[in-house]
Amino acid sequence: MESEVLEVPTYFPLLSQNMTTISRALAELEKSDTKVPFLEREVRESLALFVENSLLISAEKGSLSLAEAKEELRKEPVMKKAERLIGQMSTVSTDRSSFVEAVSELKTELQSRNRKEEPLSVTNMADYTRMDHEPEPAVVIFDNQLTEAKHKRLENSRKQKEFAEFTEVMISPQKLLAGEDDDDVAVEGGLVDLRCPISKQIMNNPVTSKKCGHCYDKNNILSLFGRQSNTKCPECPMLLSRQDLIPDELMKVRVEFYNRDLEIQEKFKSHSDIVRL
Ligand SMILES: [Zn+2]
Repeated sequence: MESEVLEVPTYFPLLSQNMTTISRALAELEKSDTKVPFLEREVRESLALFVENSLLISAEKGSLSLAEAKEELRKEPVMKKAERLIGQMSTVSTDRSSFVEAVSELKTELQSRNRKEEPLSVTNMADYTRMDHEPEPAVVIFDNQLTEAKHKRLENSRKQKEFAEFTEVMISPQKLLAGEDDDDVAVEGGLVDLRCPISKQIMNNPVTSKKCGHCYDKNNILSLFGRQSNTKCPECPMLLSRQDLIPDELMKVRVEFYNRDLEIQEKFKSHSDIVRL
């Protein structure tokens, strides 16, 4: 006897068993999300250490100036490798968050469909298979959601650009970056000025005004407020509140590597003095 095949329509809501598996997989993915920024930080820190050690070794050898040693460093394949690694990590991160978003959209869609329809049973199976208008199959909804979610995310290119900037300033802390001009940062003799416009000292804790983009040392600008809730920007007529001040991460990194250079420069000097003697 030929057995009858029961055809379940393709749009049939996901079984609750599948939902549990998906939810568990999502929870795992969400956990992995915290690992990506951690790894990115590791790559940054390792690279900064590599640069510092390479420069110190050059200073020891005494045959190159700091500027020449930096030029040599730029040719190191590890610099490009690290940039590629950051790119790959961003791709993983983008894929992950797009997938999570697509699954949760799909879940919502299927759940609302579920509410509108009678649960599938032996008695209404015929109605299900006979439906003249079949809603979109789950897999199509998922694919569309995934494509859309990926389009929305431009993190990937942004992360890689940020990292390229980081590598640039790690080698040349005062270099003006591509796309940056003297509207964005204070420039002195073609180099980014790392001094606070209030104290004229190298900044410790740079903050930027969201309103006008001017940058100052946090303590110095806060002292201008005194007891007032507003103060005029020392660089332009803009009226600022404390909430307008945000940490300037790029400037912070610039200052960090500028200070490293000051220290290393001393070593280059003392070694070249020995060589000259
Ligand atoms: Zn300003």
